[in-house]
Amino acid sequence: MNLTPFKSQTIIEPFRIRSVEPIRFTTMEERKSLLKKAGYNPFQLKAKHVLIDLLTDSGTGAMSSDQWSGMMASDESYAGASSFYRFESAVRDIFGFNHVIPTHQGRAAENILFTTIAGKGDVIPNNTHFDTTRAHVEHNGAEARDMVISEGKQPQLIHPFKGNMNLEALQETIRSTGPDRIPVIMLTITNNSGGGQPVSMQNIRSVSEIANVHDIPFFIDACRFAENAWFIKTREEGFADKSPLEIAREIFSYADGCTMSAKKDGMSNIGGFLAINDDRLAQKCRSLTILTEGFPTYGGMAGYDMEAVAKGLYEALDEGYLRYRIRTTSYLGEKLTSAGISIVQPTGGHAVYIDAKEMLPHIHSLQYPAWSLTNALYLLGGIRAVEIGSVMFGLQPDGSEKPAAMELVRLAFPRRVYTQSHVDYLSEVIISTFEQRDKLTGYKVVSAPEVLRHFSAQLEPVE
Ligand SMILES: *Cc1c(COP(=O)(O)O)cnc(C)c1O
Repeated sequence: MNLTPFKSQTIIEPFRIRSVEPIRFTTMEERKSLLKKAGYNPFQLKAKHVLIDLLTDSGTGAMSSDQWSGMMASDESYAGASSFYRFESAVRDIFGFNHVIPTHQGRAAENILFTTIAGKGDVIPNNTHFDTTRAHVEHNGAEARDMVISEGKQPQLIHPFKGNMNLEALQETIRSTGPDRIPVIMLTITNNSGGGQPVSMQNIRSVSEIANVHDIPFFIDACRFAENAWFIKTREEGFADKSPLEIAREIFSYADGCTMSAKKDGMSNIGGFLAINDDRLAQKCRSLTILTEGFPTYGGMAGYDMEAVAKGLYEALDEGYLRYRIRTTSYLGEKLTSAGISIVQPTGGHAVYIDAKEMLPHIHSLQYPAWSLTNALYLLGGIRAVEIGSVMFGLQPDGSEKPAAMELVRLAFPRRVYTQSHVDYLSEVIISTFEQRDKLTGYKVVSAPEVLRHFSAQLEPVE
């Protein structure tokens, strides 16, 4: 027999399932009353009333049998546990930094770093600060300055690395602020707040060179480093034959440290770390870790959490996994685009972002079109997404309201949780909503707290 090898058109899930969790079906009538009871706020829904939950990709993934077996064999000693050394050696092997400080999640690493290095009058440049990063910078009296390239701010524009830092803006900031007032330059990979868009190796190298010339430490917000490595492999010249692990090692070789949420590409439900080369800075950060997290060989984690992360970091770099992962978002993106629905282009690593302003021009920004679409997806199909628009960003410190720059609905994919048929169903629900878009109405806020109102605000449809 001399069979011709066949090339599969379908990128299959690179796992089989041997532990399942039922998802619960509800009727549209039930969802109507559940949503009303939740104050028309999906954050207030019980998870058991959601069929497909795309609220976030943070800590919501499925762990592998290998991770679970590592957890069973964990060492829960207070000091010097073997689980810590396995965790530390995985982080050192992939990221290459000398000092590894475990934390309970990413924002704890940010708290320790910025409390130690940032102060009043300082400026921290970043492509786009994630909201917790910005909050920690500002909490310490420093200014969080975003400087993503202009292509990164245009939703429809196609560009392979829309997360890149604007190098001229960076140099201008260093010139006008003075390097002494810039304790660190950060780069977020992938750029979560900018649509999960990647940063190129060329851009990482250039930021590193600029930081070196001015003797400013360069840190990476590494939450989705494996997804970013995959985009470099598939989009940047010269990387097609390198493994994601080799690419990740090169990325971090240009940096002086990183902050990490293991709830993303750590493939775990909790955890994080701060990794640093500088001995003195590491010592200061360890002292604060003891105060706010725990002893430096467990930080904020149990031994079994550290085991899960030690294995998860390698699993996130597996080529079969990354091919499936990135295909999930582009597959949904293609289905929506061919139905005429506008999304942020190109689809990023962990999520698809629907442009609700474009879809619902009859709803004014201050009647929250993206909120309206989010609720319609729940009513019609039991899907939970998240509004990234004027409910989240519109409320000003003086109590007035200003429309957000964009009205987006984010569909974030938990890792290794949903299959292609879930995504097919999802696209049917979204397309059906799109076809009935004229029936969607705006919302008004009935009551809300003054800060971070989107989590707990009560709303009502406007008739
Ligand atoms: C999630 C996230 C963080 C914060 O991590 P937590 O584990 O949620 O505290 C920081 N930066 C980016 C880019 C993130 O996506």
